[in-house]
Amino acid sequence: MHCSTPHEPRSPEPTDPGPTEEYAMTTSITTPSLTRLDRCDRCGAAALVRATFASGCELLFCGHHARAHAPRLRELGAALRLPD
Ligand SMILES: [Zn+2]
Repeated sequence: MHCSTPHEPRSPEPTDPGPTEEYAMTTSITTPSLTRLDRCDRCGAAALVRATFASGCELLFCGHHARAHAPRLRELGAALRLPD
C-alpha cells in the first residue's frame, strides 16, 4: 500500500509538545491536533482525520475520504483519530 506522506516537514507550533510525542507508545498518544495546514491526501481538502499505522507513517483525510476509507484503513490496522 502506498503509505508515504507528501507533506513537507511541518515546523513545530509554539504549543507543540514535540515531534517525538507523535510516535510515543500507543498507551499515551498525544498527537497534536490537525491544523488548517494539514490536507487530505486524496483530494487536498482540509484534513479532519489522521490515520496512523503501526509502522509510524500516517495519512490524512478529509471527512469525505475518511468515511470512504475507514473500513479499509481499520483492516490494515490503522488507528483513526476522529475530531471530537
Ligand atoms: Zn479528501
